[in-house]
Amino acid sequence: MNTEANEAWVARSLAAVWHPCTQMKHHERFPLVPVARGKGAWLYDREGHRYLDGISSWWVNLFGHANPDINAALKDQLDTLEHAMLAGCTHEPAVLLAERLFALTGRTLGHAFFASDGASAVEIALKMSFHFWRNSGKPQKSEFVCLANSYHGETIGALGVTDVALFKDAYDPLIRHAHVVASPDARKGDDAAEHALAAMRTLFEARAQHLAAVIVEPLVQCAAGMAMHDASYLKGLRALCDEFGVHLIADEIAVGCGRTGTFFACEQASIWPDFICLSKGISGGYLPLSIVLTRDEIYRAFYDDDITRGFLHSHSYTGNPLACRAALATLDLFESADVLNENRRKASLLRAALAPLTDHPNVRNLRERGTIFAFDTALADTAQARTFSRRFFENALKQELLLRPIGTTVYLMPPYILDDEELMLLVERTRVTFEATLAEAA
Ligand SMILES: *Cc1c(COP(=O)(O)O)cnc(C)c1O
Repeated sequence: MNTEANEAWVARSLAAVWHPCTQMKHHERFPLVPVARGKGAWLYDREGHRYLDGISSWWVNLFGHANPDINAALKDQLDTLEHAMLAGCTHEPAVLLAERLFALTGRTLGHAFFASDGASAVEIALKMSFHFWRNSGKPQKSEFVCLANSYHGETIGALGVTDVALFKDAYDPLIRHAHVVASPDARKGDDAAEHALAAMRTLFEARAQHLAAVIVEPLVQCAAGMAMHDASYLKGLRALCDEFGVHLIADEIAVGCGRTGTFFACEQASIWPDFICLSKGISGGYLPLSIVLTRDEIYRAFYDDDITRGFLHSHSYTGNPLACRAALATLDLFESADVLNENRRKASLLRAALAPLTDHPNVRNLRERGTIFAFDTALADTAQARTFSRRFFENALKQELLLRPIGTTVYLMPPYILDDEELMLLVERTRVTFEATLAEAA
């Protein structure tokens, strides 16, 4: 893969760039892809080798790289207004985006607070929930609840509601821990949702007067390795939150924007949370943008002559017009094409093509939700398991695929624009990559 034109840039990157979510020493053995350009579902390296972006560049890309419609909108925006601060000023892209998201929530969550990335959106939702209770004369409601194996980002506050040891343990002394309650992960059995709700009720009964909010990843706990659960869990959780007076925060950063088959995952449970966190796909995978949507009754608790009752949080690039414009162009694409229906058709193609894997002796729990497909790998050898993801990544590149398993869970989360031929190529070469990786020693 890496001959001279690529290698010079890889060497310079490894010298100068500290890559995210990476033990840098692993790159002594495992490859780094010097991406030169992107077009549609494909990324190209500096020598013109192509890679099908099977995981949407960390789940952000929806309508392909260098999408002509989003590009045109951004070029227009660039010549109009690249940025202005959102305190004391406002601008059309932020207003239009807030209004359109309000409409998409059935006119339930009508106040949009802007930030730049997912972790910040989570921080904002947590702070807003606590501050709401404080303004409402209940400052003792200061604790949060998350699910086992949850992932909500990696800033210090977001790590407090994240339950992934690999990301969290090193920083344990810095973290204010949330209550961790059983996950409704459907792999645990048919009654997983029921058991998880019973565990939540037990906590609420003991502790509700101290609880500000529960935060969940609706339908799919993505970073946990695509752990999926039944929509009935969200319905039950909404009812519990109402009964005990605890906010419900839906972290739809990964599952929002159509990923699970509906625009918001919560729609499948016919519920609305008190806060929705959006990021990743909302800008089409173009620019850092996140948004926290909330209800009028929460907004009103902050509305006062007293400045300290206001929500004083801010980030420099809050509501960046270019990012908002990319989001508006992304929402236009949802409206102009029958995206969600077309995704259902594509998902059925993927389902049929992946089905034979259920009989594979090393495959467990083949599962899907919307355009997310995953299976777990049974490996006898723990050394093989430890390096599985990195070896799979390397073998996938040889098959012109960009895939990055989570531990030993292989998943596909492609952009929505793959044609039928690309979908079949993705499945067939995933299978070849899987066999090649199983056949290797650690
Ligand atoms: C990616 C992700 C985040 C964090 O978003 P960043 O932009 O990476 O900070 C939070 N929650 C969920 C569910 C995510 O998938």
